[in-house]
Amino acid sequence: MKLLEDKIKTDGTVLGEDVLKVDNFLNHQVDPKLMDAMGAEFARLFADAGITKVLTVESSGIAPALMAALHLNVPMIFARKHKSLTLTDNLYTARVYSYTKQVNNDISIDKRFLNEDDTVLIIDDFLANGQAVQGLLEIAKVANVKVGGIGIVIEKSFQKGRKMIEDTGIRVESLARIAAFENGEVKFVSES
Ligand code: 5GP
Repeated sequence: MKLLEDKIKTDGTVLGEDVLKVDNFLNHQVDPKLMDAMGAEFARLFADAGITKVLTVESSGIAPALMAALHLNVPMIFARKHKSLTLTDNLYTARVYSYTKQVNNDISIDKRFLNEDDTVLIIDDFLANGQAVQGLLEIAKVANVKVGGIGIVIEKSFQKGRKMIEDTGIRVESLARIAAFENGEVKFVSES
């Protein structure tokens, strides 16, 4: 998506070898018009997938997931993060290793919000090694819901997550795909 790629070029900062900082428009300060455009694009891409709910993980998935849900006219559910969970009777849970914080979080969704006739669209802000998406896929499996697709705002195509999803056979659409960071500059797959 050109609008997003341009925004990453002008406002994103490469940190170290493999992290992109986008806290001025995506995951701390949020650009609502860009979120709205991204939500519309996800809705267009998955218009024929029969989506009944959008799933994400708090907190940085919420803004794009909410806009996708608005354009698809379905509810959005965000999995909550906990340090560790003890009482899990009413919850679907999965353990997720956080790429940026390097700690394990247990994520959970209340069982009331997923039904066997649901088809979900999983949305996240970044795809790195695929741990967050994997956690949501585990929950979807246990909840016995269909996964109609996975929508990613920024995919780092040089990391493992893309392949992990492709191996599941589930359709994945990323609005920006980063091929590499070269001398602090972002190179998109579309440019190479
Ligand atoms: P994964 O679970 O795919 O390994 O990593 C995805 C999660 O880690 C995302 O939910 C995101 O919060 C965080 N993340 C991964 N890579 C980056 C990055 O380059 N920049 C930022 N800001 N967050 C990232």
